Amino acid sequence: MKAFVYQGPGKMALEDRPTPDITAPTDAIVKIVKTTICGTDLHILKGDVPTCAPGRVLGHEGVGIVEKVGAAVAAFHPGDRVIVSCISSCGKCDYCRKGMYSHCTTGGWILGNTIDGTQAEYVRIPHADTSLYHIPADTDEEALVMLSDILPTSFECGVLNGKVQPGSTVAIVGAGPIGLAALLTAQFYSPAEIVMIDLDDNRLEMSMRFGATSTVNSRDGKAAEKVIKMTGGRGVDTAIEAVGVPATFVLCEDIVAPGGIIANIGVHGQKVDLHLERLWDRNITITTRLVDTVTTPMLIQTIRSHKVHPERLITHRFKLDKILDAYQTFGSAAKTNALKVIIEA
Ligand SMILES: [Zn+2]
Ligand SMILES: [Zn+2]
Repeated sequence: MKAFVYQGPGKMALEDRPTPDITAPTDAIVKIVKTTICGTDLHILKGDVPTCAPGRVLGHEGVGIVEKVGAAVAAFHPGDRVIVSCISSCGKCDYCRKGMYSHCTTGGWILGNTIDGTQAEYVRIPHADTSLYHIPADTDEEALVMLSDILPTSFECGVLNGKVQPGSTVAIVGAGPIGLAALLTAQFYSPAEIVMIDLDDNRLEMSMRFGATSTVNSRDGKAAEKVIKMTGGRGVDTAIEAVGVPATFVLCEDIVAPGGIIANIGVHGQKVDLHLERLWDRNITITTRLVDTVTTPMLIQTIRSHKVHPERLITHRFKLDKILDAYQTFGSAAKTNALKVIIEA
């Protein structure tokens, strides 16, 4: 089969690989129909993710059709159309029993990281019963590709951890796919204001179409000042960090209102300054999380009932044999205006 392989920092190729087979009775083999590229894949290609060794098939998102299942798999059968979750979970370990699938002792984020992933014609899914989701017959499959990772990630780590509430004020720092997915799902709770902050005017314009109430371009270094002014000197109840660099986290520290929450989503590769000399008396909360995907069943229903339209994040489509072009397009988003790219296997 064709598979997109990380060959070491800066090196990648579409290779011919043997089709994966069942190795444990709880496995399923899924024929990928559509997959996509995540910002995390770009981090891997730069060599920023030491757990991902050269030779790995990348990808932790996608929808497909079950090809075969191990003897212990009960909930899925060959021919079933499924969403592949970016998080694999056994459902039995202490973390899974707490609903913290991200820290499953034999799962978590392993797909396209420590085991071969979804940017291929076939993928082996361990713990299939608790790591796959059935696709309802009447639902847009492309929209559901956004449910493998970005929708639950932005919703759980940003919106839920940030306790977005009716009438509250929210700022989302970073208007990439994750920030925009947070913008879409924050609206479940009808906050009074959602301010989107980014360096890219095209993404800010798109944010307004996706339901932001205002936008701030942070290029001039005055974003904090502007947000404080827009909120009558208070700051925001929820500051969602959706980039993962020191400057954007510090911006959240600068704009969080007394009693507010900084909800981090970004994957940080560098240390960040925590300004406790300014924050110690402000009753704030800082949350961090790796997505648990516990909200995936609920999010499927919101897509099915058209309460949210994550397919609006899809800007480009490619065939699997053109995946290098897809990476090129996704990796130069400032030029191509790419958000999510769909890759058809
Ligand atoms: Zn991802
Ligand atoms: Zn587990």
